[in-house]
Amino acid sequence: MELTDVSNVLSHKYVINDPLHQLFDAVHTIAVQGYDVKRRVIYWNKGSELLYGYTKAEAIGNKIEELIIPVQMKQHVIESINNWFTKDIPLPAAELLLRHKDNKVINVFSSHVLFTNQFEQKQMYCIDIDIADLKYAQAQAMFKEHMLEAAFEAIPDLFFLMTEEGTIIDYHASNKKNLYVPADEFIGKPMVDILPSEVAQLFKVNIAKVLTEQIVACFEYQLTFPHGTIHFEARISHLPVHNQVVTIVRDISERYETAEIIRNHAYFDPLTLLPNRFLSLDRLSQLLNEAKRNNDKTAILFLDLDDFKKVNDTLGHEIGDKLLKESAKRLNYVVRKEDTVGRLGGDEFIVLLRGLTDDHNALTIAENLLKVFRKPFKIGDRELILTLSIGIAISPDNGNTASDLLKSADTAMYQAKALGRNTYSFFTKAMNETMLRRLEVEEQMHGALERNEFEVYYQSQFDVKKNDIVSAEALLRWHNPKLGNITPDEFIPIAEHTGLIVPIGQFVVRQALLLLNRWQTAKGKQYRMAINLSPRQFRDSQLINFIEQSLKEAKISAQCLELEITEGVLMIGQSYIDDALKSLNELGIKLSMDDFGTGYSSLSYLRQYAFDILKIDRSFISGITHNKADRELVSATIAMAHSLGLSVVAEGVETKAQALLLSELQCDYLQGFYFSKPIPAKALLQSLPKILL
Ligand code: C2E
Ligand code: CA
Ligand code: CA
Repeated sequence: MELTDVSNVLSHKYVINDPLHQLFDAVHTIAVQGYDVKRRVIYWNKGSELLYGYTKAEAIGNKIEELIIPVQMKQHVIESINNWFTKDIPLPAAELLLRHKDNKVINVFSSHVLFTNQFEQKQMYCIDIDIADLKYAQAQAMFKEHMLEAAFEAIPDLFFLMTEEGTIIDYHASNKKNLYVPADEFIGKPMVDILPSEVAQLFKVNIAKVLTEQIVACFEYQLTFPHGTIHFEARISHLPVHNQVVTIVRDISERYETAEIIRNHAYFDPLTLLPNRFLSLDRLSQLLNEAKRNNDKTAILFLDLDDFKKVNDTLGHEIGDKLLKESAKRLNYVVRKEDTVGRLGGDEFIVLLRGLTDDHNALTIAENLLKVFRKPFKIGDRELILTLSIGIAISPDNGNTASDLLKSADTAMYQAKALGRNTYSFFTKAMNETMLRRLEVEEQMHGALERNEFEVYYQSQFDVKKNDIVSAEALLRWHNPKLGNITPDEFIPIAEHTGLIVPIGQFVVRQALLLLNRWQTAKGKQYRMAINLSPRQFRDSQLINFIEQSLKEAKISAQCLELEITEGVLMIGQSYIDDALKSLNELGIKLSMDDFGTGYSSLSYLRQYAFDILKIDRSFISGITHNKADRELVSATIAMAHSLGLSVVAEGVETKAQALLLSELQCDYLQGFYFSKPIPAKALLQSLPKILL
């Protein structure tokens, strides 16, 4: 019988199962379609309308392949359905990708039935369930699993999945090296059976915490492996729905070691491995407390390597470091185990002696320390002699606290240096007074510049050939309301030490140049001005700029300025000093070597640097009229200076006899009380011209 008319299709002739259709009509989530042998739609429920987009009216009578079968499947579907109708080869249920009215792909799980109705007509029914959401969820789950796998592989941490009782169900370990036992030995076993008892206990406690408090527990532990001890950090969290706990275990050995290094850095000197200043002083405090309780004495030795700076500067820091390391070894060799050798910094060391007795006394130890340094240091194929200066302070006499005792020992060490180095000195009462005075001066010096306590005095210099005053030296004076007049010999070293010499030195330069301008104008002569510069002032990067600027402001030409420096400046041996001297020279400023004869009096310095003037120290001048040796020395110095193209100034000229003798010895300039004491600016401007020699 032919199916020609759509209305016919719905006739009950084709439909045997009405109650079933009623059911299909009611269920919208399932798409049910009925087909006749020619694959034409004879039934199309609401679910099919929703799923495929065709209304019942649109679908009925149309062939399946025209409606929902994608082009590439058409042939196959037609054949399969025909095979079923004609050869009884059933069409199995399957997941299919079918076609919506809008052409979009519909993912269904499709089951099929075939039966023959009461009119002997074969009919096929398809029951399709939309599985798009399911598929999506599956894909998501898959993705999550893959992502987790990739993450597990990429992260060096260990993951353990455990029951709430702590039995290990699953694990991930990208690096199996940190598994305490192989996987097959722990899967299915309680964590606590595998780990050492104290670590197991930690896990137990923390799992319990996670279960009751619903938090992420975090704790650290360590395990010993054949490849060493590994520090771990474990995090445990609960999966309540699954009654499981997840544990993430991280190897934190590196972090642990870094922390350890930082701890060591805080207490030990990385070069010598000795306790650093902080730890040394801490130990000293402990020793002092102990000594107080036992009514004992504690001694500290403050050690400073002599001329270490020079060694470092000439031979380089690498050799300097080696010497420091070797020195540390030698120091440790002399003291007992219960004593402490520490490095305070640079070339300064400290030795703490615990419980002084007769055969363990500070003096013997100091002597032994000097003795071990007598052996030359072998650095490569070089042999070097290094000596020590040692200051000794003993509690409670020289101080009760670590810092007081350290200060006393430091003062005593300076005394040892003053005694000629390579020796030791005990702290004494006199030193104590010097130290207190020093502190007092230092205290008063702060703010002294602002309070206008400084004044520059001027001492004129006499030109022998011209028989006239041609220049002056600026000399600083300090009057403090509390301390009275303080001599430059006392306050200049302190100002250097504190760095206050920089602003104070600038004050001198500014004042002296302004005065020079007034002096030149008043007398109509090209007077010169000599200004003293301390080593510390060269560390001021603004020095050159400042001087240049000051010359400009005072309208003084560079040729009229002389800067006096001592050999000490040159001995620092730093390139910034060379550079500064070169710049000063290039500006046309004259350089004068001060106090010649007192230091090393090295001729090489005179040749190496562009000096213009040499000042013979006043200690030689005082003796020239009655001491032949002094006279010969001065005479030789003048000749030598002249041969190097330098002019010579004699300072400290106090008598006419000295002045006459010096002029005979061809000295160029004379300075001293015989001509004038250092006087205030006003006095210099008012001084009357007179013939002096
Ligand atoms: P100096 O550069 O050797 O200065 C010369 C010192 O000799 C001055 O001492 C001066 O007063 C003193 N003097 C001058 N003529 C005679 C004399 O005929 N007989 C004797 N016995 N002494 C004489 P002063 O002013 O006490 O200065 C001491 C040192 O302080 C100076 O020695 C200098 O090194 C330093 N100084 C002074 N003013 C300054 C300054 O402004 N800056 C720096 N950096 N150092 C300064
Ligand atoms: Ca001087
Ligand atoms: Ca001098």
